Amino acid sequence: MDYEITVTGLVQGVGFRPYVYRLAKSLGISGDVRNSGGIVRIRLSECDEELANRFVAELKDRKPKEACIDSIEMKPVEQRTGAAGFFIVPSDEIKADELPDIPADIGVCTRCISEMKDLSNRRYAYPYISCASCGPRYSIIHRLPYDRENTSMSSYLKCDDCDSDYNDENNPYARRHFAQTISCNECGPQAILRTEKGEELSGGFAISRACEILRYGGILAIKGIGGYQFACLPDDTYAVLKLRDIKGRKKKPFAMLFPNIASIKEVALVSREEEELLRSGERPIVLLEANLKDKSLKFVCGDSTNIGAMLPQSGIHEILSSVLGPMVLTSGNISGEPLSYKDEDFFRHEFEGIEGVLYYKRDILVPEDDSVTRILGGKTQVIRYARGYVPKKLSLERIFKKPLIAFGGDLKASFAIGKGRGVILSQYIGDLESYACQEYFKSSLKREMELYGFRPEAIACDKHPGYTSVRLAKEFADKRHIPIIGVYHHHAHVASVMAEHGLTHAIGVAMDGTGYGKDGRIWGGEIFYVTGGTADRRSHIEYFRLIGGDEAAKDAGKDLKCLMHASGFSIEDELIKTAIDEHINTIETSSAGRLFDIISAALGIRDYNTYEAECAIALENAAKSALKNSLTTYALPITGDPHELIYYLIKAKHKGIDVRELALGFHRSLASWIIRECEAVRDDKADNNVCLSGGCFANQVLSDMCRIGLATKGFHVYFNEKIPMNDQGIAVGQAYILALQ
Ligand SMILES: [Zn+2]
Ligand SMILES: [Zn+2]
Repeated sequence: MDYEITVTGLVQGVGFRPYVYRLAKSLGISGDVRNSGGIVRIRLSECDEELANRFVAELKDRKPKEACIDSIEMKPVEQRTGAAGFFIVPSDEIKADELPDIPADIGVCTRCISEMKDLSNRRYAYPYISCASCGPRYSIIHRLPYDRENTSMSSYLKCDDCDSDYNDENNPYARRHFAQTISCNECGPQAILRTEKGEELSGGFAISRACEILRYGGILAIKGIGGYQFACLPDDTYAVLKLRDIKGRKKKPFAMLFPNIASIKEVALVSREEEELLRSGERPIVLLEANLKDKSLKFVCGDSTNIGAMLPQSGIHEILSSVLGPMVLTSGNISGEPLSYKDEDFFRHEFEGIEGVLYYKRDILVPEDDSVTRILGGKTQVIRYARGYVPKKLSLERIFKKPLIAFGGDLKASFAIGKGRGVILSQYIGDLESYACQEYFKSSLKREMELYGFRPEAIACDKHPGYTSVRLAKEFADKRHIPIIGVYHHHAHVASVMAEHGLTHAIGVAMDGTGYGKDGRIWGGEIFYVTGGTADRRSHIEYFRLIGGDEAAKDAGKDLKCLMHASGFSIEDELIKTAIDEHINTIETSSAGRLFDIISAALGIRDYNTYEAECAIALENAAKSALKNSLTTYALPITGDPHELIYYLIKAKHKGIDVRELALGFHRSLASWIIRECEAVRDDKADNNVCLSGGCFANQVLSDMCRIGLATKGFHVYFNEKIPMNDQGIAVGQAYILALQ
């Protein structure tokens, strides 16, 4: 009897076919294995049932580390005559009801690193080394299935040695049997350094000059896996400040590349979970608690109590960091503009002050920033969803009635495509205010539709009448005559958590900066009861009036004056007084984000956001410092009314209470209010599920207080893990709401 086995899940680009081959050989089974669209099909020839069952059992148990099996189906098929032996055969195309799984990029593995450092190995010092279980994937795929000719490796012909590694039937245990990105010093992409003066060096010369540039205080551009990056040495103040200048990034902390865990431990605390995350195939930036003995990283990290650390994502990063030690590494673009990833675009830019560009000639087909993550309550939380995570599929409890695209929000833009049971979130795109980001959004969407052969029949987008993402969604839907459904921002935040955890009803807490509300006001401190596709608003932070416009999100000092005036304090600014009293160019908002800004300003901690959430982060750091130094929590009334809060806080500050105690007191008051409001909804709905979402939950103190406080009261607390809690995640929420409706 012959058997056909269909395996779905993340089974391409992870060394799955050679694994199947080895397993079949070891069990003495004949047949073949092929990629078929996004799935793997295996045929076992003249095999008895018992052996076939054993094959399936072992297939699950001993799968490659990066593979993820969703389902295995086996059915008997008519016997076919063929040559004895087991073969990996060419891929074929199929149409499916589900979105195929396309492998994400995988950071360089430890075995490739050892080869790279082994003088006797023919891949010694080869900076673009990869194998069947590591290397670029999504960033180089033109089309499915994942075979070399469908990637930007297709222009590199394998040398004889690589070809025999690839095909070696007799040595299928080698790690490059059927490795699509196989290459070496002879035949693969090479390191090239272009200096400021226009010289070009290649191979080892390029790398050693690049090291020299960094060592002598220069800024180097590096072409990484997902795009260009800028690097400099962290203890060189002049270089760090110059990098800030080039990027137009005044204070926001930079991430750092470290050669190994030991070097990270010199500057930060690293738990077991954090270490695992740093080493994971996704190779993200992990936010760690800084443990600095001196002020040496002051210009890199600013006032942050965190360090964004990462381990080498590719061989070139491994070589540079092992030669030079820790490095500042940041995306190669001007702040607010999209990441550069095409060689010609990058070189056209002429970034002044960059002393060298270390690159290679294989095309990157889709730009991907470095992902940002952290560990919260023992679990991984992805804060920026990009390289390594994209395009992993989230499997839902519900089936989409129609294939759809969700257009997300305007800040931290991202879209999601949904079909069958799966939804795929796009990479982080940036702020749609920038025209370049809008173009990047459109081209990313186009590429993804082509890659997946995706034809949407419905569109989801935000409800904000002024959002660029909404305009893009409308243009897209009109052109194709497909229906468009608006979803409220904070409902989408809550639904993004529900989607991840397979919930269809929950109490939802959404705390963030800005989102358009049902009553036309700016919401941002909301408590809902969500059931199916509808959200019933049960409570919110009391509205407060601010002067509108973009400055409201930046100028916390001005927002503070607005609230003080409305709360009965005397302020001196006549313009603000008149505006607030007569509602001239003002907005009413329930934004938790603005409340954090205002409290930060009121306590004299920070009164202007030069980057997003700067004031709120400084306030959180003050609260953390209170916790660390075992200060008392100043007792504020438990209230959702900012007017009342500001009244008590300012009185207390005048009494000379330590601002750190007040900062902690504010966090405690807000968390207690959230918990109390959730209890009120539970009393009414007898529902124990609570979902926490929105950018304010990036705040660790608030997250911990809510998470632990709610759990103590017997709630099942859910938060975002794979999908960002900030606005990047709302596309997934929008899609899920449509699946629930
Ligand atoms: Zn490898
Ligand atoms: Zn080769």
